[in-house]
Amino acid sequence: MMQHYLLLTPGPLTTSDTVKQAMLKDWCTWDDDYNLEVVQKIRQNLVTLAVSGNIPDKSNRYSSVLMQGSGTASVEAVIGSAIGKQDKLLVINNGAYGERIAEMARYLDISHQVLTFGETQLPDMAVIEDALATDPAISHVAMVHCETTTGMLNPLEATAKLCQKYRKVFILDAMSSFGGIEFDLAALDIGFMISSANKCIQGVPGFGFVIAKTELLQQCRGQARSLSLDLYAQWHTMESANGKWRFTSPTHVVRAFAQALTELELEGGITARAGRYRKNQQLLVAGMRELGFEPLLNDKLHSPIITSFYSPESDNYQFSEFYQRLKAKGFVIYPGKVSDADCFRIGNIGEIYPGDIERLLAAIALAKYW
Ligand SMILES: *Cc1c(COP(=O)(O)O)cnc(C)c1O
Repeated sequence: MMQHYLLLTPGPLTTSDTVKQAMLKDWCTWDDDYNLEVVQKIRQNLVTLAVSGNIPDKSNRYSSVLMQGSGTASVEAVIGSAIGKQDKLLVINNGAYGERIAEMARYLDISHQVLTFGETQLPDMAVIEDALATDPAISHVAMVHCETTTGMLNPLEATAKLCQKYRKVFILDAMSSFGGIEFDLAALDIGFMISSANKCIQGVPGFGFVIAKTELLQQCRGQARSLSLDLYAQWHTMESANGKWRFTSPTHVVRAFAQALTELELEGGITARAGRYRKNQQLLVAGMRELGFEPLLNDKLHSPIITSFYSPESDNYQFSEFYQRLKAKGFVIYPGKVSDADCFRIGNIGEIYPGDIERLLAAIALAKYW
């Protein structure tokens, strides 16, 4: 299969030929070949990846649920199902995806408070602690792990510790990090974690997934503000009917995802993949600096997932022209998303290897026309 270009984007991203080939077969959604052999295995695999030593009869046991739609649908399913009428959500916001969670709370008329921090700074832990200490109504805290807007890695451990200290349910949007950065849900006492098929697991787009404490999933019963995004109903159907989805499932996408999980394991699991992404990112930043580009963030704040670079200051520079020139050489990059700085982004995730980054850097050197 010919690759027309490499996607250096935060998803959909470049997938392997074997992941794409896994879609060349039609599956019956009622058959055990699909439900038991594909869906249930995926659900179990996800929990194994997320939690080391998941003990089925312990109170902190975890389960997973797959949800049709892009990643946002799964975030909205959690926000709309986990937070009860008497509950209140604290949203930590330092980018477009944190802001999206706050927007969901507004749409769904959920009691909430938003703590907004600058897009290029880490959230201030003292401000978060102050909110938790002074407002006993807060029951849930939502944060984005890797804020894909900038590529910033937010303080996962510190926030998890505060949630434990003040006994709040921690909701983590790990959309762009799960599978590409190591962390353990049980060790961090995470209540709900959300990710999707087309990010670091390297599948194709079409569904998201939630890995959550089983007892919290049970507590979602009857709380959903939407029928199709009812997290409990979706989970309960998958649990009780052996992997059945409530409504038409994206069968081809799910099959591709199963293949992507196998390939993650063959690569050496999350540790090995995280190492490859880090290497991609370090090569990229070093090479871009040599070409005269500066990253938006301080090196310490970078995730290995995606990197924002300031646009060149030349009056001749236009992103669209730069983009087209790189695309003609076989690379697709991403526009910026930060509100107060002119930048563009380059993703390091997907079926991308250090050799690809080196070829990209050579292409950028040639595509510099300003
Ligand atoms: C990609 C992403 C999402 C979901 O985006 P969709 O376009 O709905 O798939 C949510 N949060 C973060 C941090 C993301 O990177």
